[in-house]
Amino acid sequence: MPSVILANTPLSLHHNLLRIHAPRIARRGGAGQFVIVIPDESSERLPLAICDLSPEEGWIETVYRKQGGPGAQLAERQRGEELYSLTGPLGNPISKERWGHALLVGREAEGSLLYLLAKELLKEGNRVSLLLSAPKREELLLADRFQSLPLQLLTATDDGSAGFPGTGEALFEKVCAGESFQRLFLSGPLEMMRRIAHKSAPYEIPGEASLHVLMLDGTGMCGSCRVRVEDRLCLACLEGPSFDIRKIDWESLAPRMQAQDLWQLSPPLVKPSQDVPAQEDSFDKNRREREEPWRKALRAKHSAKERTSRPKISLPLRPVEERLKDFSEVSPGYSSQEALLEASRCLDCPTPSCMGGCPVEIRIPTFIKNIERGDFKNAASVLRENNVLPGVCGRVCPQEELCEGHCIYNRLGLPPVSIGALQRFAIDYALQEGWCFPLPLPTPRERIAVIGSGPASLSAAGELSRWGYSVTVFESLHLPGGVLMTGIPEFRLPKERLLAEIKEIKRLGVEIQTDFVVGKTATFEELKEEGYQAFFIGAGAPKPVLLNIEGEMLNGVYSAGEYLTRVNLMKAYLAREGASPLVRGRKVAVIGGGNTAIDCARTARRLGAKGVVLVYRRTEREMPARKDEISYARQEGVEMTFLTRPLCFLGDSHGWVVGMECQATRLSEPDASGRRRPVDVPGGTSRIEADVIVNALGTLPTPILSSALPGLSIGPEGRIEVTEELATSVPGVFAGGDAVRGGATVILAIKDGRTAARSIHRYLSLHRSRSSR
Ligand code: FAD
Repeated sequence: MPSVILANTPLSLHHNLLRIHAPRIARRGGAGQFVIVIPDESSERLPLAICDLSPEEGWIETVYRKQGGPGAQLAERQRGEELYSLTGPLGNPISKERWGHALLVGREAEGSLLYLLAKELLKEGNRVSLLLSAPKREELLLADRFQSLPLQLLTATDDGSAGFPGTGEALFEKVCAGESFQRLFLSGPLEMMRRIAHKSAPYEIPGEASLHVLMLDGTGMCGSCRVRVEDRLCLACLEGPSFDIRKIDWESLAPRMQAQDLWQLSPPLVKPSQDVPAQEDSFDKNRREREEPWRKALRAKHSAKERTSRPKISLPLRPVEERLKDFSEVSPGYSSQEALLEASRCLDCPTPSCMGGCPVEIRIPTFIKNIERGDFKNAASVLRENNVLPGVCGRVCPQEELCEGHCIYNRLGLPPVSIGALQRFAIDYALQEGWCFPLPLPTPRERIAVIGSGPASLSAAGELSRWGYSVTVFESLHLPGGVLMTGIPEFRLPKERLLAEIKEIKRLGVEIQTDFVVGKTATFEELKEEGYQAFFIGAGAPKPVLLNIEGEMLNGVYSAGEYLTRVNLMKAYLAREGASPLVRGRKVAVIGGGNTAIDCARTARRLGAKGVVLVYRRTEREMPARKDEISYARQEGVEMTFLTRPLCFLGDSHGWVVGMECQATRLSEPDASGRRRPVDVPGGTSRIEADVIVNALGTLPTPILSSALPGLSIGPEGRIEVTEELATSVPGVFAGGDAVRGGATVILAIKDGRTAARSIHRYLSLHRSRSSR
């Protein structure tokens, strides 16, 4: 639904009041919650608190600062124009109880959320006093509106131009000395809230402070809003944004207080049937295809000896010096000639072991032999039958462990056929030629809601749509693709390629609604009322695993989620107004050994870091990253320090990171599971200098969906528990991908999407036949 601007009115020199048409958010939002606004395509995500709303008229209001980045861009937008993106309501509402006498303290744009809170508290029968402060009279935001409510309004201005002459803190002390309050609510700059929280202690007023200014993403995937609460690291967007003022570790937020001002600084046609759609076993189909005359003739053209004696055609790579200057893809891919030559190495084995290594059982020899005979269109068509994102997988799958790892050539001591590169070639060719593939029969079936738009969801949606279901994908971010869009960098997976494959999925009839957080924008119940009869949860596992070590709150310390999202989704690498604020760093340290860590390290080099060191607590052999990517990272000058783990981060007096202290490790003897665990080497400490540190240790599912769906059974580390058919504990709700497995791979997510699609089809068919009895 378009988010049209109904008003964008100046409140002061620095602030505007924005009213937006947003009926869903207006219906569900409450005081303390926020929305993420992206003014136009080139802008950053801007977290803004809801300051008023009308469920009846379908609008929400928010106050924003006009300076810097997205605020300046938002200020240019006119009434009647659409926002590029609006998501919400996010975060948890402040509880509206009958406290007695409540004191609300606000300043600047953040203070505006107190307007909605005051209205709600008054409705509950509370007495409300509001303390509003500003540098000068003109910046007492919404003062006239507050005045229209039956509350006691107290104002303070730093220059004495209105109300109490002095700071809000000074007036707070004065007020507390004379009156008693049962509840305190703070919403303003972090430093102001910290001081008032301290000053309130002697009066023993319990209270909450809203930390929504810390947020970037709003759905738990970047870790930018980390805050220590009662000795526990929390994410404000998930557990807050309001927290108990006595439990917030205000000192740990000190470095973030500077950072919040960063802006100012700077398919086959499947006939639907009542049963599970019949699908010929891939191995049988390949066997049958292998006997077709053209294929026999092709095999006979060259002997096996001739084929195995041909040299492997390596993927052409751009020179390292050129690569480091931009974010374009490292390899331009095979030319047609190179693809034909590499395809001719494939022996077209009678029992193709490569297929056994592919989780979605692509008929690998069939597609490769089609390339060899020059029928690229058919090759692409074969690939698409089992995988809705074959071009993506050709680029990012760990082929050395999967198809290529199972290729017969390995047993002959020869390099395997480059299946991934050939797959990428066939799909790139098809997209370039604009080839279309058959669409499903338009037999209308039930509505299915798919949550998230990563590979698991896109795979489930594509399959279900092919069978005639009416599928809507709900995605909380402003662009679809999940980690393929937010995490994997442009130089490995160009976004235009990803979007081209998503366009093909949409052509199947899949509708994608972005800016829609299921559990927040709408509940499961509401979606059911709208006619959705089954659900697939492919919400991924975006929540960063924090280290919980000293110095983690320092500026310049990023989670990989934040670092990569700023670069990929928000295009921080483009030097232009509105590009995401990111400290680029001269010396960057990345902690971890997976694909994410390698992506961060290579990104840092492209962002201009002179030195990038990857710190991993095991050895290269245990690194889960793709082998090719490790070797590209080395070529690009990324250093690797193995058997080392961070002990703490070191900062300067301004709250910026300057390095980390490390502990040497060694690998233990294999345990019962066969794993060799890293154990500390006594005394082996060292220091690594760095002005940016990226934690790429791993991620977990967020609790947004589990808390929105009572009865959803959750296992260890927040993973959704499912049966073999990927059914969750809630009837009609299925799940797969990282939300179930934790951080895994794209191809396993795609496999889960396919499995769940069949299970959903079976579930709905059963319901259909029961209700027709
Ligand atoms: P995701 O891709 O995480 O997608 C989940 C989507 O759901 C997100 O878009 C999220 O915004 C959305 N969402 C969440 N909650 C809600 C909600 N309540 N409402 C609406 N939408 C919601 N794997 C490989 O195979 N090869 C690689 O080279 C590789 N490199 C990687 C590099 C990085 C940096 C990272 C982080 C991961 C990498 N992986 C790689 C892992 C791979 O990307 C994931 O395993 C895969 O994307 C998981 O897919 P998914 O569909 O389960 O979830």
